[in-house]
Amino acid sequence: MHKVLVAGGAGFIGANLCERLLQENCIVYCIDNLITGDRANVDLLKSYKEFSFIEHDITRPFSLADFHIESVDAIYHLASPASPNKNSQYSYMNYPIETLLVNSFGSHVLLTIAKEHHAAFLYASSSEVYGDPTVSPQKEDYTGNVSSVSVRSVYDEGKRFGEAITMAYVRKHNVDARIVRIFNTYGPRMRSDDGRVISNLISQALQGKPLTIFGSGKQTRSFCYVSDLVGGLVLALEKDMTKGSVVNVGNPDERTIGELAILIKNMTKSKSDIVYEALPEDDPKTRKPDIAKAKKLLDWEPSITLEEGLQKTIEYFKNR
Ligand code: UDP
Repeated sequence: MHKVLVAGGAGFIGANLCERLLQENCIVYCIDNLITGDRANVDLLKSYKEFSFIEHDITRPFSLADFHIESVDAIYHLASPASPNKNSQYSYMNYPIETLLVNSFGSHVLLTIAKEHHAAFLYASSSEVYGDPTVSPQKEDYTGNVSSVSVRSVYDEGKRFGEAITMAYVRKHNVDARIVRIFNTYGPRMRSDDGRVISNLISQALQGKPLTIFGSGKQTRSFCYVSDLVGGLVLALEKDMTKGSVVNVGNPDERTIGELAILIKNMTKSKSDIVYEALPEDDPKTRKPDIAKAKKLLDWEPSITLEEGLQKTIEYFKNR
């Protein structure tokens, strides 16, 4: 039975990952400081006997022994605020220093533990390392178009540093680590008020409020349902030959935000108006993963269509 540490396990993707691992009979230690993670996710996971929760900030150095854990076989690093919408209390814009530190020093802390315990390590990076891409779709070897000083830089550069230190531990200390670049992901356990486009539009539609499109709505994103994404993360950690690799995991089905708003309005049978608001600073114009590498290396591709995933997500938000 695998013993797994999930940093950021109380967050949206982290909690879905913890549940998948518990269903696969792993022993799961979730570590999270709950600044943007959700205690409700932890409370649900507590129904699994093999789940433990540690409330701790990984930028404060720790050892497994501090929490009476003998060893782990695998570490997933998903700990980071992740929403760019500054109007949400959970946005990384409200935690700029924490975001930089958890992806830099926090990664160092976790990588030292991976080294000590010979644990496999996965760093959850982001399509944000590509910034506002000048090529589409984005392949792993595209080095990006990122500002080091813009408002989004705390997240983008944090993730870029996280990637760099992960590779340094592979090269210098032979740690069995890999990097996954996660593209826009949605589904159950998202916070309804995290400010992301899908959670916003569904919540607005269900509450009869206007659906907000930022900018013209012509910008594109490619949305991956969370169960598909989590499957990709697990394969990336477990498959042979991924050590030292960088892999995009996302759904290449690219849509404009305008299209997405109409789809959600129709699927929820909402009578709400669609309103246009200012485009946030540095909002990328396009985003679409090239997943050829994930298909080859992980034998993975997403299976849930946007329409199916939105249906499940709408049901989840209705029943909250
Ligand atoms: N967006 C929008 N309405 C909202 C929230 C977001 O039009 O209520 C836009 C946002 O400006 C961006 C896209 O939707 O162009 C995706 O935003 P999100 O915050 O979900 O993630 P991002 O891909 O920007 O990290």
